[in-house]
Amino acid sequence: MGMDVTFWGVRGSIPTPGDATRRFGGNTSCVEIRTEEALLVCDAGSGMRPLGLDLAGRGRGPWDVHLFLTHAHWDHIQGFPFFHPAYSPENSIHVYGTGAEDDRNYQLLSGQMQGAYFPISFLSLRASIRPAYMPGGRVTIGNVEVEAFPLDHPGGCFGYVFQSADRKVVYATDHVISWDGSPAEPRPVPKACLDVARNADLLIADAQFTDGEYLTHPDWGHSSSLTVTDWALQAGVGQLALFHHDPSHSDEDMDRMVAGCRERVRRLGGNLAVFAAAEGNSVVLV
Ligand SMILES: [Zn+2]
Ligand SMILES: [Zn+2]
Repeated sequence: MGMDVTFWGVRGSIPTPGDATRRFGGNTSCVEIRTEEALLVCDAGSGMRPLGLDLAGRGRGPWDVHLFLTHAHWDHIQGFPFFHPAYSPENSIHVYGTGAEDDRNYQLLSGQMQGAYFPISFLSLRASIRPAYMPGGRVTIGNVEVEAFPLDHPGGCFGYVFQSADRKVVYATDHVISWDGSPAEPRPVPKACLDVARNADLLIADAQFTDGEYLTHPDWGHSSSLTVTDWALQAGVGQLALFHHDPSHSDEDMDRMVAGCRERVRRLGGNLAVFAAAEGNSVVLV
């Protein structure tokens, strides 16, 4: 009855292939959540391409993919036209909106394949690709209850809580928790954020910036990794996955960021495990 979480894209803003990002990966946001009954996917960044290749290699199927988009900034939709299962008629893809009749995510996802942007028409994809809905911001898929919640990000954004009988995963990328630069510890976190992440087994959170980067770009809609660590600590989270890595951050920069967050956990006390999401890595929650 567990949930397996696999990171297929972890980078923010733009893909960053190359030697400097080899260990953590350069593909943009795409996270797979797998239960015995369902295949759920968060975001359709360039990491969706290797997810599609991996699904083909698993040799099972047909695939019934439940896709939850946070928003339609390019780094969260650009992988969809390269998702191989979308080209096979036996597969189904459900593109969720966050309300009862909300098909905006479906429209935005398909709109990027208009002729001026992409050579292959969305209508020529052979899988069954349909809008799906979350009346009241909720839907149940197999044994997983999914709840959408608003994030603080330019243009609007949604995070998702995935809850089974005994496991809870929260996906919250492209989200700023504001910090005024004050040295007080722990940093204040909005109650709504604490409530949504309360006692999660795994919180996957936007931790794009160092403190210095955050303070010079407070309006870009991304959080400092130390602020996010304070969020996870105060919400009683089990594991925190730093996510949406800055395109300028090398693997060594990520090592330093993780070390800084772990040092903070030691100083503030708590059992929180912190790691940086890395492409191809899985977290098995059983
Ligand atoms: Zn993003
Ligand atoms: Zn964004």
